[in-house]
Amino acid sequence: MQIQGECFCGQISYAITGSLRDARSCHCSRCRKAFSSQASAYALVEPKQFEWLSGQELLTLYQSQQGFGLQFCKVCGSTLCGVFNGQIHGVTLGCVNGDPKIEIGQHIFVGSKATWEVMPEHVVKYHEAAPKS
Ligand SMILES: [Zn+2]
Ligand SMILES: [Zn+2]
Repeated sequence: MQIQGECFCGQISYAITGSLRDARSCHCSRCRKAFSSQASAYALVEPKQFEWLSGQELLTLYQSQQGFGLQFCKVCGSTLCGVFNGQIHGVTLGCVNGDPKIEIGQHIFVGSKATWEVMPEHVVKYHEAAPKS
């Protein structure tokens, strides 16, 4: 299957040939800032299955920790993807168009969620990071 995504202004778009995996939502204070939201919504992608279709020159990288950064559109501010050591790592689910055939499997760092966020009851949640399986 092919998954496509784009930023709010539509100038940057991408395609993924294959499927997303490990969709998660992190409620920590850093992710709240990075995603301007109550939590992140993010899924991993296989680097060789990902390609930019348009607007790549409008991407800006904010490196938030050693080796890892987020790329966003400098026109509209949408955060599109995560980059690890210069390679695409994952995409923000908010910029995916349509149904990517994946659901958020786990909510992590719920212990540090915002006071104003009301968590749904029937989701998989972890106080901090998910245990390694
Ligand atoms: Zn944009
Ligand atoms: Zn987080």
